[in-house]
Amino acid sequence: MRTLTRLIAALVAASFAPAVASAKLNIVTTATDYADIARRVGGDHVDVYSIMKGPENIHNVMAKPTEMVRLNAADLFVHSGLDTEPWRDNLLKGARNPRVMFGKPGYVDMSDGVPLKEVPTGKIDRSMGDVHAYGNPHYTLNPQIAQRMAVTMTRALVATDPANAADYKANAKRFVVEMGDLSREVKAAFAPYAGLKVVTFHRAWEYFADAVDLTLVGTIEPQVSITPSPAQVRQTIDLMRREGVKVVICETYDDDKLARYVADQAGAKMVVLPDHVNGVPGTDTYQQLFRYNVAKLIETARAAGVQPKPVTAEAATPGPPAGEVRPPANGAGTSGGGSTPGNSSGGN
Ligand SMILES: [Zn+2]
Repeated sequence: MRTLTRLIAALVAASFAPAVASAKLNIVTTATDYADIARRVGGDHVDVYSIMKGPENIHNVMAKPTEMVRLNAADLFVHSGLDTEPWRDNLLKGARNPRVMFGKPGYVDMSDGVPLKEVPTGKIDRSMGDVHAYGNPHYTLNPQIAQRMAVTMTRALVATDPANAADYKANAKRFVVEMGDLSREVKAAFAPYAGLKVVTFHRAWEYFADAVDLTLVGTIEPQVSITPSPAQVRQTIDLMRREGVKVVICETYDDDKLARYVADQAGAKMVVLPDHVNGVPGTDTYQQLFRYNVAKLIETARAAGVQPKPVTAEAATPGPPAGEVRPPANGAGTSGGGSTPGNSSGGN
C-alpha cells in the first residue's frame, strides 16, 4: 500500500511539475529597454517579446499583425506612456486583450513616477511637432531612471503573479544596485570630458546628458521629427562654430549623411549612437548600452581634438563593477512602494 501511495505521489508530481514550470507570464514591450528590465526582474518566470528591435525610431514603428496576435495573449504590455509611441493605440485596438488595456494591471506605463523634462507649461501645441507634447519621452537613457522603471515593472509583476513576488523583489533589488553602480561607473569614465558640448539630431539625449554630463547646445532638427530647411542647417553650423561644439550625435534612425555634413562644415566629428538597448550589435543590456555610448563619445571627442580635463581622484574612482551584488544602502524601494530610488535621492 505504501508503495502504491508513493507511486501515485510520484505520478502526480511528474504530471504537475511541467505544467507549473511552463506557466510563464507573457510580456510584450514596445521598446527593447523595457524587455531588458522585464527579463532581469522577471527572471525564469517570464517570456518577453519586444516589438522594437533596437535601432528604430520609437516614434515611428509599424507593429505587424502577428504582433497584435502576440499582444492578444500577453499578461503585461509595457510601454513608454505619454505620446512616445503614436502607433500604440492601433496595436492595442488590434490586440483585443482586455487584460492589457488602460486601467488594467497588465497596462504598464513606464513613465509612471519619472521626473520628466521639457514638460510644456501652457496649452499643448502640436504645431511644435507630433510627439514630445507631454514632455521629453526619452527618459530610458539614464540608469537612475531605470531604477525607477524597475520599481514599476516589479509592481506589475507582483500584482499579476503574486506567487513569485519574492523572486521579483529580489531580482529588482539586484537590478537597482547594478544601475546605481552603472551610474557611478559611466560618470567616472566620462569625467575627463564632463560638460562636453554636443549637437544632437533629435532631442533624444536630455536624460542621457544628466547621466554622463553632456552640454546639449542644439539639435539638427529645428523641431521634433521635422526635417530642417537649408537655412536651418546653416544656423546649426553657425551655432556650432560660435559655441565651439566638436561632437555631433546622430541617432541610429536619423539622417547620418546630413549629420556628417553638419559636423564637417563646423569642424566637428559625427558619431552614430544607439538610444535604445540593442540599437547596435553588442548593446543588449543597459550596461552594454551605456558603456558603448560612453566609449564612442570619448573616442569621438578625442578624434575631434577635445582635450581631456585633469580629473580629481574622487571623480576618477569608479564604483564597484556592475553586477556585483551589494545590499542597497537604503533598501531602495523595490518592495512595491511608491519610492523613486535614484531620482529623488540623487542615488550617488
Ligand atoms: Zn523623440
